[in-house]
Amino acid sequence: MKSIGIVTSGGDAPGMNAVMWAAVKAARFRNMKIYGVMNGYQGLIDNEIVELNDRNIEGIIDRGGTRLGTARCAAMMTEEGQHAAVRNMYDHGIEGLLVAGGDGSFRGARDLARLGVPVVCVPATIDNDLGYTDYCIGFDTACNTAVDAISKIRDTMMSHNRVAVVEVMGRHCGDIALTVGMVGGADYILVPEVEYDKPFDIDNVVDRLTKNREYGNKSAMVVLAEGVMYEHKNRAELLGQMILERMPQLDLKVNILGHVQRGGCPSARDRRYALQMTERAVQMLHHGDTGRVVGIKDSAVIDMPLDEALAIKKVLNESFFRLAHALGQAI
Ligand code: ATP
Repeated sequence: MKSIGIVTSGGDAPGMNAVMWAAVKAARFRNMKIYGVMNGYQGLIDNEIVELNDRNIEGIIDRGGTRLGTARCAAMMTEEGQHAAVRNMYDHGIEGLLVAGGDGSFRGARDLARLGVPVVCVPATIDNDLGYTDYCIGFDTACNTAVDAISKIRDTMMSHNRVAVVEVMGRHCGDIALTVGMVGGADYILVPEVEYDKPFDIDNVVDRLTKNREYGNKSAMVVLAEGVMYEHKNRAELLGQMILERMPQLDLKVNILGHVQRGGCPSARDRRYALQMTERAVQMLHHGDTGRVVGIKDSAVIDMPLDEALAIKKVLNESFFRLAHALGQAI
């Protein structure tokens, strides 16, 4: 291929700009033209497509968010929208598309591939919820942000002998909660995957907090993913109330970390994986090796067919799960 496009889609993730940076550099290295699609698939449908050069990427490798913009785009779910996207690509002479995003964005890419568009996908979503890859760009930065916040919350909780309930992101996937709960020294970690297997039982949480007191601890930390009790809008508050109904003597504070987890300068790990995976993706587009995804397995870059990747179910990291248990952190 001599001319490719890049789109960032779905929720933004720190490291998406590093993907854009690497795509422009890798395309130029191969004398390929590269076009940026603005605002996710919406920009593809609305024909918001610009040719990229070094000026567009100067100083962005360490910036959070995505300079290209992103959007949730309902029109991409329609045949009409998809045909408009294909038409606009071909009008610009774009022969193939690099898609950076999560599983929804990959499904959009699959629809384009079915219409004959050569695509290669790079996983970029803070939730880390794609089953075929060990790692998605943005996850490390989001965890670092949440761990930093949890440490600060612990400082003040300990000073006042308080209990904290902290909600982190992760609608279907507990990777952020499990990771930050573990390394943040949480006493109880609640993830949606466990809730799917057995109904959430408040008595287990209360039992753990009671034992925690008996062991001599004056404060405690409960970390929950937003996917736990997801049907309740104020799930963290609800969990706090449920604990207080059973342990009214506690001084308990609820903290919802929210969108702070999406922003910020991408970590070295996120940038390194962004550069590695994007360079591979551009190389694959150049060779016409498309309809595939790039990912990370055992720290190495891999690629596989898009259909196969989407069929792999994401499961909770079993060894982390066992480690948390062995360290007395209830899940
Ligand atoms: P994140 O996990 O960070 O939210 P994501 O890529 O999964 O990222 P989604 O909002 O699920 O985010 O999907 C992004 C976009 O991909 C959607 O707004 C829509 O335009 C497109 N998309 C999602 N699912 C499909 C589908 N089944 N068919 C076609 N396009 C889709």
